[in-house]
Amino acid sequence: MTTLDENITRLKGHIARFARDGIVHMIGGADVAGPDTFETRAPADGSLIASVARGGPAEIDAAARAATSAFPAWAALPGAERKALLHRIADAIVARADEIALCESWDSGQPLRFMAKAALRGAENFRFFADRAPAARDGQSLPSPGHMNITGRSPIGPVGVITPWNTPFMLSTWKIAPALAAGCTVVHKPAELSPLTARILAEICRDAGLPDGVLNLVNGMGEDAGRALTEHPAIRAIAFVGESRTGTQIMKQGADTLKRVHFELGGKNPVIVFDDADLDRALDAVIFMIYSLNGERCTSSSRLLVHDSIRPDFERKLAERVARIRVGHPLDPATEVGPLIAGVHHEKVRGYFDVARAEGAHVAAGGTCAEGPGWYVAPTLFTGATNAMRIAQEEIFGPVLTSIPFADEAEAVALANDVDYGLAGYLWTNDLSRAMRVSDAMQAGMIWVNSENVRHLPTPFGGVKASGIGRDGGDWSFEFFMEQKNVAFATGAHAIPRLGV
Ligand code: NAD
Repeated sequence: MTTLDENITRLKGHIARFARDGIVHMIGGADVAGPDTFETRAPADGSLIASVARGGPAEIDAAARAATSAFPAWAALPGAERKALLHRIADAIVARADEIALCESWDSGQPLRFMAKAALRGAENFRFFADRAPAARDGQSLPSPGHMNITGRSPIGPVGVITPWNTPFMLSTWKIAPALAAGCTVVHKPAELSPLTARILAEICRDAGLPDGVLNLVNGMGEDAGRALTEHPAIRAIAFVGESRTGTQIMKQGADTLKRVHFELGGKNPVIVFDDADLDRALDAVIFMIYSLNGERCTSSSRLLVHDSIRPDFERKLAERVARIRVGHPLDPATEVGPLIAGVHHEKVRGYFDVARAEGAHVAAGGTCAEGPGWYVAPTLFTGATNAMRIAQEEIFGPVLTSIPFADEAEAVALANDVDYGLAGYLWTNDLSRAMRVSDAMQAGMIWVNSENVRHLPTPFGGVKASGIGRDGGDWSFEFFMEQKNVAFATGAHAIPRLGV
């Protein structure tokens, strides 16, 4: 295992070029610097990493034009060739995984131990959709009396991909890989708070031989670059990952151009622990699913619903473990929780410590912020909470867990569903019938029983209610990035109604 000092040395080698040259757009295969820039800073100490070209409507328009020009040839490329190219991209991601993980960790504040895996998951996303590219256009034959109907799929056209700052590399590949495999061209607008690895991904794709204009990168703010992308008439669809209220805005912005939208939004996910569960494993999972990735994770289980009879003991053990979680430098291999992404987010999370106290919850662990530099908060556990409190209803998006007791199964289900969101749910019980009943009744797009968030790429990923619209994964990604067409061939000379004879 490498040491913190070794990791810092390697990081410096990787980011020196960004510090020197800045991070520029990539439009039509060319590096494009803009007149305007903004800064990306390290959450660990606030130091400047690089200045970043700040794109707006002009850069988005240039990128949309490049994506439009590149679309016909890319869409017409045989699936087997797209497959080979996407595998080359995956190979290059693996080859540069160390660089990606270090840059991502430094830019986002996420501990390196998790970012190393996230980089490799990016490569897996490319491989998964690469393998499906040759059959992406396949359809069905649906015979009817007098006709043979033949369906087929074709790529929808140039699409926009807008991604958030938490695990930005993995999330970008989760959208860009299926879009490219389907035959779409892409304009990517990454989050302004962690733009480093989107640039690395664009370079990897260009170096692997992706034709110019197939993947374009425009950095900038949501309100100008992001907005322009969602309003651009040449962009046929927007795949968006981010906050629920941003999804609402994007839907409005895209209305005039009838954008197809796919939204992966926020969550306030319950983990229900029944008294018959394997409580040691449940404890590990509860801790992992809220305190890993700084709690800045859409599928984090931020609401613990725990049966009354086991609550005192479970919460006591939980508080002891939470107090021992190692908070530190994101590049330190020992670190379990790193700094939050930025000052504005730090203020938000810290604000909930005051909200919890004002609402009458008990702070069983944490509830404090370290003095700077760096946007650190202590892993926090609130107990004595009710589901009506803001700390139980709002997405805090930090290492903060709210524990709420329940008396019976009916109350557990009611509490789990009594929230605006519906992304993921977790359930711990050894009673099979109860597991079936409760998972059926829970309002969430994804439920894990006696497990944590383990992804299987062929399965559907996405949420209900305020957590999203649409699904990723398997063929669901292609359904979004492709159009269905039906062609009906007459199989006989059937009587055609005659007018005007
Ligand atoms: P955000 O909504 O603030 O920003 C996401 C992206 O949208 C950024 O690139 C931003 O620049 C852009 N944007 C902002 N306003 C825009 C506008 N008006 N038009 C177009 N683009 C605009 O989200 P965030 O704070 O970066 O990310 C955290 C959120 O993302 C959390 O709510 C989290 O739950 C969610 N998230 C969801 C999933 C999922 O799969 N469901 C995964 C990761 C993160």
